[in-house]
Amino acid sequence: MGLEKTSSHAYLWKRTHYTSDITPELDGREVIIAGWVREIRDLGGIKFLVLKDKEGFIQVTIPKDKVNESVIKVAEDLQRQDCISVRGTVKKMDKAPRGVEVIPESIIVLNRAKQPLPIDITGKTPADIDVRLDARVLDLVRDEPQAIFRIRHVALEAIREFFSKNGFIEVHTPKIIATATEGGASLFPVIYFEREAFLAQSPQLYKEQLVIDFEKVYEIGPAFRAEKSHTRRHLAEFISVDIEMAFATAEDVMEVAERLLQYVCRVVSERCRKELEILKHKIDVPQIPFKRFTYDEILNDLREAGIKINWGEDIPTMAFRTLGKLHPYFYFIVDWPTQLKPFYIKPRDDKPEISESFDLMWHWVEIASGGTRIHDKELLIKRLKEQNLSLESFKYHLQAFDYGMPPHAGWGIGLERLIMVLTGIRNIREVILFPRDRFRLTP
Ligand code: ATP
Ligand code: MG
Repeated sequence: MGLEKTSSHAYLWKRTHYTSDITPELDGREVIIAGWVREIRDLGGIKFLVLKDKEGFIQVTIPKDKVNESVIKVAEDLQRQDCISVRGTVKKMDKAPRGVEVIPESIIVLNRAKQPLPIDITGKTPADIDVRLDARVLDLVRDEPQAIFRIRHVALEAIREFFSKNGFIEVHTPKIIATATEGGASLFPVIYFEREAFLAQSPQLYKEQLVIDFEKVYEIGPAFRAEKSHTRRHLAEFISVDIEMAFATAEDVMEVAERLLQYVCRVVSERCRKELEILKHKIDVPQIPFKRFTYDEILNDLREAGIKINWGEDIPTMAFRTLGKLHPYFYFIVDWPTQLKPFYIKPRDDKPEISESFDLMWHWVEIASGGTRIHDKELLIKRLKEQNLSLESFKYHLQAFDYGMPPHAGWGIGLERLIMVLTGIRNIREVILFPRDRFRLTP
């Protein structure tokens, strides 16, 4: 049998089954499982261990009069998060979770966890987020983060499926760059040999250039911003999902965005039922098209709610809270004043003070920004000058406009903001493994 072979092997801890493979039908079979002790309950004559592996949990039951001495001895010292391997017999047991348990013949301790643990990994005693983040690797074993990062994984899978099906090619552009994309305010400088360089805030310039070569590109990569504001939706390093499309306008890429979001919501709600249950969250698959409001309409809404914003001013965070109550799902804000948008966004031909741009919102959170880009070199130069940006530092970007730049449009979605929507989690730090913000650079 397979197990004999394993036992003659030097590694006696090699698993034969994941916890999820162990079903009542395996009653009587010998198995080796491996993982971590999640919980221990001692009822005197009987001890229950809950063992966790990447697939789930299984109950290991130790009736003191029925297992050998050495098992009892090892079990005595076991603590939460110890890494162990268990060889034992599967037993059908109606009263056990999932109707099955394992009775051990031997338990090998592969590594002990240092006690006391800084947080309760069963999640029963909630800990402050900073305490949890300081012990992030341990924090991530809890059910809730496990569910969040499974959803994040499935969302990324769905995003790639969607782009592949829709004819986009995945690209990776440099993250160490010589020029600020949109002015220097929130850039991180780095020492690049004898020169100064920066960490990329977005793949904007490169993805635009690449439409000459590939027409429809997408990138899923890190973006770095020296955000001074400490909010629940800003990180200093986040993952940006970007697209750029040749022969397209803002309206075309808005349709791509809403179809993508609908697809991702559907896929995650179908493939992550268990995870959504753990998070007590329900995803409503949105209807498309999403509502579109102009910047002017939004200003009117806000005025009626008692918040006055002058035309041409950006919408402040507290106003977004009000908007979130008025529009409690996905919606676009379109027709932004040109002065509020970066130099590469195309002003409307008939009304240059308004741009062909949009923000995609979910309640009060901005999920994406995008628009039609300027593809005319002269106009681009004019806009750079108006924003006091140096033509010299955009030399290579401008050069691309000499090589047949097509009309194009695109957007960038913040992945973590999207994961907040999909999980119902309110603090962005919970949906990224190792958050970076103004005050946190470790672990
Ligand atoms: P905000 O106004 O929320 O600070 P922004 O308008 O500065 O965002 P964009 O430059 O439009 O951001 O970036 C595109 C998308 O990237 C945003 O819509 C958002 O989803 C995401 N994003 C931007 N900055 C951050 C950040 N600091 N942390 C996490 N996600 C971000
Ligand atoms: Mg934006």
